[in-house]
Amino acid sequence: EEWLPEGPLSVSFEGVSFGYNEDHRVLHDVSFELKPGERLGLVGRTGSGKSSISRLLLRLYNSDRGVIRIGGTDIRNLSLPALYRRVGMVTQDVQLFDGTLRDNLTLFNPNLTDEEILRTTEQLGLRSWIDAMPAGLDSRLSSGGSSLSAGEAQLFALTRVFLTKPSLIILDEPSSRLDAATEAALQTAVDQLLAQCTGIVIAHRLSTLDNVDKIMVLRQGRIAEFGSREAL
Ligand code: ATP
Ligand code: MG
Repeated sequence: EEWLPEGPLSVSFEGVSFGYNEDHRVLHDVSFELKPGERLGLVGRTGSGKSSISRLLLRLYNSDRGVIRIGGTDIRNLSLPALYRRVGMVTQDVQLFDGTLRDNLTLFNPNLTDEEILRTTEQLGLRSWIDAMPAGLDSRLSSGGSSLSAGEAQLFALTRVFLTKPSLIILDEPSSRLDAATEAALQTAVDQLLAQCTGIVIAHRLSTLDNVDKIMVLRQGRIAEFGSREAL
């Protein structure tokens, strides 16, 4: 079993092709590289394959062709615990399970203290919501997250990722359901997180990508453009 180096992790796709089923290929020969600590903005129209790239990085699916490396290691040789301890993702839909608020936030990591959890929720603007719950961090959530608004669910997912202190973070349109005020507050927190790790930020619009180093434009599963933010 392979181990990942400490600190921010490099990412590379080498000739990656992928389809959810055999007759419909979604990614075609995708190759790119991110150095440790670099931040990539990933843009493209609906269905261009942005989220598919993030799903492959987390091994939710396997590519049909090509190699994906994180920290120099082919991700097929990484254990899932090694991968999930170091790579954090905030997706368009948040998965919550039937359990306490604390367990949903920490994913059962016993090393996280309530103090740290509450500090992070404060930082991300979720604290007042937790304080309003009947039993604080011991309150039970129902699966599916029906007790949260869409915006709260996204804040929740971001808090969860913050607490894992990832070395690579993937944000899949994390602010798409937030109002302007919440989004602005969150941006500061996201910037702090991105300052410490390698990041991939997925967005529909270029305008939301102020703090990335590189931009990749996907068009129908192919890289249409890739370069520094200034060059594009
Ligand atoms: P959006 O901006 O709408 O989030 P996206 O760029 O993230 O789009 P993907 O979710 O990567 O796009 O989808 C790429 C293609 O793969 C689309 O044609 C989509 O219909 C298809 N697709 C996505 N998920 C699945 C799935 N689970 N099963 C089959 N096809 C899928
Ligand atoms: Mg998507």
